[in-house]
Amino acid sequence: MPRASDSDAEAVRVLGTGGLVIIPTETVYGLAADAGNAEAVAAIFEAKGRPRFNPLIAHVADAMQAEAVALFDPRARALAEAFWPGPLTLVAPVRDRTGVCDLARAGLDSVAVRVPGHARARALISAFGRPVVAPSANRSGRPSPTTFADAVEETGFAARAAINGGPCAVGVESTVVSVLDGRVALLRPGSVTREEIEALVGPLARFGEGGGEGHRSPGRLTLHYAPDAPVRIEAADARGGEILLGFGPGAGDPRWSLSPTGDLREAAANLFRRLREADRERPTGIAVSPIPAHGLGEAINDRLRRAAGYVG
Ligand code: AMP
Ligand code: MG
Repeated sequence: MPRASDSDAEAVRVLGTGGLVIIPTETVYGLAADAGNAEAVAAIFEAKGRPRFNPLIAHVADAMQAEAVALFDPRARALAEAFWPGPLTLVAPVRDRTGVCDLARAGLDSVAVRVPGHARARALISAFGRPVVAPSANRSGRPSPTTFADAVEETGFAARAAINGGPCAVGVESTVVSVLDGRVALLRPGSVTREEIEALVGPLARFGEGGGEGHRSPGRLTLHYAPDAPVRIEAADARGGEILLGFGPGAGDPRWSLSPTGDLREAAANLFRRLREADRERPTGIAVSPIPAHGLGEAINDRLRRAAGYVG
């Protein structure tokens, strides 16, 4: 088990020697390593059981450090200015192939970068001085950890230090947007919404619409974010032995609700924690009330469909 560390200096030292560190971010807890150290990056894939074709996100301290790693066009720059620090990842042509090693990029000519909104994460990266890859600290395919305890339970065995930054405020992984060949595409919905992005850069290319290879998101597996219990979405009620995660007033037991008032931000923040808590009760299944499709609902529904194994 990692030493819980209150000292960023200790975590920076571990990163510098190729070790892994559990770090808080505003989205979910991450399992972090030096992005330029192929052995350290390999240890992340190993600890998570993550397929090597699924590239990692390089976390950087600021937009300047991002542009040292990636080539931004004016629209990428506009998105960075509007949403960083925060839960938006930009996929752009790679500039520095050593700072974010081949394995971290799954051999692609593009790189995913983001400046996290969590001040502690930024301070750590800034003190380390180089990009840090930090995929969610769960074992591959499982729900992402949004609390320190869940992160340590998932991949603590592989980490040499762990920073407790409290519960994650956002609760779902970052929005991933590619900005390649003058085209902007949404690869993964998140809490920066499609509507917010389109207001800034115009209509997003539809998935698979002549965007070329670069606009594909290699790691988006059908069954992902899944607890042990089967997940049933768009449920009106719990069937025998199921736990219902409700949304909005009157939907099931309020103790299990994603948001009793029907608030999408609250539902996102609660989503993975409730899935994990429900799973611990060993129900026959986890049913989830319908969630609106707009705004942050797009990301919540995306994670739920994958937890239920519905989409490719
Ligand atoms: P995670 O680190 O688990 O939050 O996932 C990172 C996400 O970003 C995955 O869905 C990847 O497929 C996507 N991603 C990372 N790098 C690239 C890239 N160069 N091109 C396309 N998608 C990427
Ligand atoms: Mg993940």
